[in-house]
Amino acid sequence: MHPVREQSAIEILQQILEANRESAVVVDRNRRILAANRAADSAFWRQGGSMRGRLLSEAIRDLPLHEAFGRALDLGLPADVKMEFIGGGRRNYDIHVAPMKLEGSNCAIGVFYDVTQVERLEMIRQEFLSNISHELRTPLTSIMAFVETLEDGAIDDPENNRRFLATIRRNAERMHEMISDILELSFIESGKISIDTKSVRLKNLVDEVFTSLSTKAAAREVKLSNQIPAEARALADPVRLEQILTNLIDNAIKFNRTGGTVSVMSVESGPKTTIKVSDTGEGILPDHLPRVFERFYRADRGRTREVGGTGLGLAIVKHLVRLHGGDVSVDSTPGEGSVFTIELPNG
Ligand code: ADP
Repeated sequence: MHPVREQSAIEILQQILEANRESAVVVDRNRRILAANRAADSAFWRQGGSMRGRLLSEAIRDLPLHEAFGRALDLGLPADVKMEFIGGGRRNYDIHVAPMKLEGSNCAIGVFYDVTQVERLEMIRQEFLSNISHELRTPLTSIMAFVETLEDGAIDDPENNRRFLATIRRNAERMHEMISDILELSFIESGKISIDTKSVRLKNLVDEVFTSLSTKAAAREVKLSNQIPAEARALADPVRLEQILTNLIDNAIKFNRTGGTVSVMSVESGPKTTIKVSDTGEGILPDHLPRVFERFYRADRGRTREVGGTGLGLAIVKHLVRLHGGDVSVDSTPGEGSVFTIELPNG
């Protein structure tokens, strides 16, 4: 009969830690690592293999963390600390350190909860709320000021009363547009919309968008040029694709120069159809380029106040294109213009 080898306490501990998704590390009283799971090795041990047998300070240099382990080892007290660790990327952890005994010796265990994503989402939520409040307060303040002016007597001033009412209307419309865009975006983001794709003739669709935006283009003396081949098709939800193109073409008109042009073209290659919306406007500076698809982002707030816009149009475009299994990107030469490219499956 083979003698049955009993597993040591450390081996058992190592298996228990391994069953855990969070990173966990056990150190002895000299802060030498007795056990660490794979999650901990891949998060904190840059040299490959396991960090068992190493000093904790070789893997993680963080003073509050070491103090927490010290408290657990020397005083037998648990502690909670936060740590930012810069390894492959920047990650944030909430760590619980507790004293424990292993085969009669004092040890300490640290469990690292990765809160990077939770904290990022919380930050986005806070930013979103503060943006919404700010964006809605600006037109509302103006509405309240003009109502007060009218109440204080301007209502009987035939020269100005209509002008003040027009300003109130414009600001109310702006709030309405913003709330509609916010609702639309949250509806799309909630994943509740379904995309009903079919083979769409692109040239016709772009003609329709041009027709609905023609007054706006004429007012800015911007020429609209549909260069899509008659036979070009994409596999898309026609209503959603019209919304995507309307947002892109509307921007291309808004941010154009007087006498400029908006061109839409398409190329089919393999399983993809690429649609490009180009303008001859002021362009977007390289610093702003990666951010224009973010909610409420505007490269030039003063300018958008003048031309109108919620800062949500491109966020909506990005979501809708992704729902189609496609992608959207932008290229721009400041002073010459911008090109927004969407890639869709072709039909
Ligand atoms: P907005 O309602 O302000 O147009 P968008 O989300 O559609 O919001 O666009 C975000 C920002 O990206 C705009 O405020 C503008 O600064 C920039 N932008 C978008 N399209 C263009 C374009 N064709 N040319 C220059 N800047 C653009």
